[in-house]
Amino acid sequence: IRSAGKGRAWSGCMDLDSIPVTRLKGVGPKQAEKLKRLQIVSVQDVLFHLPLRYQDRTRVVAIRDLVPGLEVVCTGVVLSSEVLFRGRRSLLCTIADSDGSELVLRFFHFNQQQQQKLRVGNRLRCFGEVRRGPRRLEMVHPEFQTITPGNDTGSGDTDSTNENSLTPIYPVTEGLHQLSMRKITDAALSHLKNAGVDELLPSTYAVGISLKEALLTVHRPQADVDVDGLLSGDHPSVQRLALEELVAHRLSVQQIRHATKTQLAPVITSKQGLCKQLIDSLDFKLTSAQLRVIDEIHQDLVTGMPMLRLVQGDVGSGKTLVAAAAAAIAVDSGYQVAVMAPTEILAEQHLLNFSAWFEPLGLKVGWLKSKLGVRQKRDAMESIALGQTHIAVGTHALFQQQVDFHQLGLTIVDEQHRFGVDQRLSLREKGMAQGIVPHQLTMTATPIPRTLAMTAYADLDCSIIDELPPGRQTIVTAAIPNHRKPEVIERVAAAIDDGRQVYWVCTLIEESEALQASAAEDTQLELAELLINARVSLVHGRMQAKEKEDTMQRFKAHEIDLLVATTVIEVGVDVPNASLIVIENAERLGLSQLHQLRGRVGRGTQQSSCVLMFEKGLSQRARDRIGILRETNDGFLIAEKDLELRGAGEVLGTRQTGSAQFKIADLMRDKKMLPQVKVISDEIYSRHPHQVLLLISRWFGKDSPEYGNV
Ligand code: ADP
Ligand code: MG
Repeated sequence: IRSAGKGRAWSGCMDLDSIPVTRLKGVGPKQAEKLKRLQIVSVQDVLFHLPLRYQDRTRVVAIRDLVPGLEVVCTGVVLSSEVLFRGRRSLLCTIADSDGSELVLRFFHFNQQQQQKLRVGNRLRCFGEVRRGPRRLEMVHPEFQTITPGNDTGSGDTDSTNENSLTPIYPVTEGLHQLSMRKITDAALSHLKNAGVDELLPSTYAVGISLKEALLTVHRPQADVDVDGLLSGDHPSVQRLALEELVAHRLSVQQIRHATKTQLAPVITSKQGLCKQLIDSLDFKLTSAQLRVIDEIHQDLVTGMPMLRLVQGDVGSGKTLVAAAAAAIAVDSGYQVAVMAPTEILAEQHLLNFSAWFEPLGLKVGWLKSKLGVRQKRDAMESIALGQTHIAVGTHALFQQQVDFHQLGLTIVDEQHRFGVDQRLSLREKGMAQGIVPHQLTMTATPIPRTLAMTAYADLDCSIIDELPPGRQTIVTAAIPNHRKPEVIERVAAAIDDGRQVYWVCTLIEESEALQASAAEDTQLELAELLINARVSLVHGRMQAKEKEDTMQRFKAHEIDLLVATTVIEVGVDVPNASLIVIENAERLGLSQLHQLRGRVGRGTQQSSCVLMFEKGLSQRARDRIGILRETNDGFLIAEKDLELRGAGEVLGTRQTGSAQFKIADLMRDKKMLPQVKVISDEIYSRHPHQVLLLISRWFGKDSPEYGNV
């Protein structure tokens, strides 16, 4: 418990956190209920519920400057307008602006009146999200209006219809509309104007702009605001808020770490017998990186405090063995070990490895899988509860159900990358007995650049296996334009004739999952027709988990020669006989993702290759990416480059970041602030402890694990 200590004196502002939302005009019990779902309870919560983004209807963007993902206003003259009946009735309308650049407008629902407005020769003004279409950029169901020639200036773009401030878009929940959200924030902002808000950052740090001013600007950007700065995040108001959010995040992580370090962990004595036996039983020598990481883990285990360590290592760097060594150390001290993987197929891979290594040493490795019969399941659970099973392997889902251990000492979590801090915490809770928290070792094959790891994994200590076992064949990577597909198909046929297996990856990242799946189906049919002797099968994200796993199993068992897949193919699946992977439209994927996909091959002894297919006319950036992949197989280098070329959110995967999802900060953009964030948060932590929870609750809410509600 932290003492209130030398908290900074209150600045005399009204405490907006103690004013309930129901005091705001227009917020009744029903609205309050909905707001609560967004963790909005007080007026302060409304103020810190920041716009996700803005719609910029203040200016017209030239079609040639469009980029997928932008929501913009465009104007142009209709060149063609036709109703298609391919699959689904749709209306395709192509417009062009003054320099002849074209944009497709696509409608699935339309009436005659709308069709009239979209007639050839009409000038349109539309607003919508830009997406990549089959031929060119398009907007699906844009809002549009015809611009009458009378209003038309020389360029065709009239300013009179432009709105003069940015439109904030808030995260909302079912039944709560943007407009209501805007009214609610209006009301909260008037409280802010009257009452002000507490500055919680030490005044010694010149942060330039006041919190009040920053909040006002970000919620209601005025007409004269630097629009580009606000959208890109360079604006001082955004920077001011991002700084505070990053400080709050770092404090929360310090808080979690602090709490962890006061917990008791299983006492592991420094016995090395079993670990040594394991290492001696292998028919290869561990790399020095593996030995170093095993030593780091060993150091953690003997401290009496719970270990929280992440092992990062490129595909094939031998993480499983490092985990096994950790397991051996724990078992040697009389503890049990839980090994969990995100999917059953990965769990089974671990089961096979751990059984092969430990059964000869006289240990019992148990298997928890969903399809076990009632009796088998009871036996497995009983053996775990009695402590007869030394190492239990299964999926995360299974361990989240009730499994009683006799004496759990260590949990090993594979592919942690997919989890956020809160999920990690809940897994850690699992093994708690009598206030003793098991050690936790997590492994990820997706390297995260150090800059990001500092924040995304700040609650963990990191070990890096930066060396591959000797004698690995590097994967040869080739880039081939789409029009040379027949050659690629010949290569596929040759590999299959040789008794090898092949992955064919279809990418369509901008489209819906349904469209992806159907594109992959088309590819499967096409390839099956061309490769009559091959057994061709398909996995995609719309299939049932069981169906997906079955297909992966059959591929593993070599009942399938060619696996057509969307980008869902499981990370870490090991099919050593697969020696060729073809990735269509490789220009659409990020570097790390391409590297991960490429890592599906090169797991056996034969020379493997990766063919990146691309559309002609690549952008410089896409060419750079493909160039980097051809030059190096080093996952860390690739991750750094990826971070340079894209943003942090993309590198981490937005859904994968867990608590590293910020309201306003962006790790890549705000990277330069991180040293300052460290200094400020250290000062607050040691000199103004009273502010710690105030800052955390302001940014992450009182229900968050960051706040200590684990
Ligand atoms: P990953 O880090 O991708 O999980 P694995 O642990 O699955 O890698 O190891 C990949 C393969 O390399 C396995 O077959 C494993 O037995 C083997 N291996 C691990 N360490 C070494 C080593 N030091 N020398 C040779 N082979 C090794
Ligand atoms: Mg692995």
